[in-house]
Amino acid sequence: MDGCMEARAAITISEVPCPQCGEGMEIFIKDGALAADAVCEKCGYTIPAGSSV
Ligand SMILES: [Zn+2]
Repeated sequence: MDGCMEARAAITISEVPCPQCGEGMEIFIKDGALAADAVCEKCGYTIPAGSSV
């Protein structure tokens, strides 16, 4: 990827449906695991960082 040489630990932003209410929620993936807590804006459901996705 041109211009992204310094981003060695690539984080992928993805969107998945909330397991609880189905609302789309943004998740940050690094090395196949969640890089940060993902919180559903609608119902507050949290997927803790470190969960495999
Ligand atoms: Zn939800």
